Amino acid sequence: MIRVLGSAAGGGFPQWNCGCPNCVGVRRGSIRAVARTQESVAVSADGDAWFLLNASPEIRQQIESFRGLHPRALRDTPIQGIVLTNGDLDHALGLLSLRESQPLALYASKRVHSGFSEGNVLYRTLQRFEGQVTLHALELGAAEQPLRLLNGAASGLHIRAFAAPGKAALHLDQSNPQPADNIGVLIRDERTDKRLAYIPAAGASSAEVVAAGSAADALFFDGTFWSSDELIALGASTRRAEDMAHWPIGGAEGSLKFLSGLAAARRVYIHINNTNPMLRDDSAERTEVQAAGVEVAFDGMELEL
Ligand SMILES: [Zn+2]
Repeated sequence: MIRVLGSAAGGGFPQWNCGCPNCVGVRRGSIRAVARTQESVAVSADGDAWFLLNASPEIRQQIESFRGLHPRALRDTPIQGIVLTNGDLDHALGLLSLRESQPLALYASKRVHSGFSEGNVLYRTLQRFEGQVTLHALELGAAEQPLRLLNGAASGLHIRAFAAPGKAALHLDQSNPQPADNIGVLIRDERTDKRLAYIPAAGASSAEVVAAGSAADALFFDGTFWSSDELIALGASTRRAEDMAHWPIGGAEGSLKFLSGLAAARRVYIHINNTNPMLRDDSAERTEVQAAGVEVAFDGMELEL
């Protein structure tokens, strides 16, 4: 089972300090669009034990929004592990909200983990007792490894990490980029042998991205920006989508061309920026996505792998 907890890019939709037409419209209820929290997805082989893909700043609200993630005892969580695809705060800040003396298992590259923990005095809140956080390091190019329950048992899910073209988180040193700064993952359900490819940030195509997309039965992909100059045209920024390591969706070189050629039964855009015109249910861009057989994620969306 796959459940979308949050589908928006950093900032969410609407974004607290944004007065763009989409954000104004969704606040007023004057456009056909629904609000979205920041990107996070829950996956499970049995509907009982869950793994989160990224930990958004809205994690508390996202856990409460889905019964599958509620505790079943006095102190308890069905969340057995958290996968981080990069160290962006919209992917990692939620960890600090899980500080209530609960053992946590992280699946991340050592690079992403150290980027969040090193020199971060707030990380001590997750180091209050021995074994509070267990890191299962994801190595690029390694064989798949099991996603384990907190008690060490098998979950029925396996994970493999690969580099996705991207950047280190904004708050980190940008002078020494490494492939492990931004990854995609393939998650395999051993009972069905089906695979979920999860690539919420990709600045461009690459051999690894194509291979993962081709191997996937379901794919979540970077839906941040429709066009390269989306923020520039709005007057909101001087940076192009590619400058922020996001491959635009539209146009002759856009990612929609790539997704439309894949065989995966479900191909879904996620991590959608609040300025993206495809957030409007009645936009030409939404029509174009749907005509290509591709979906736009929303909070609460569920898929079977
Ligand atoms: Zn906006």
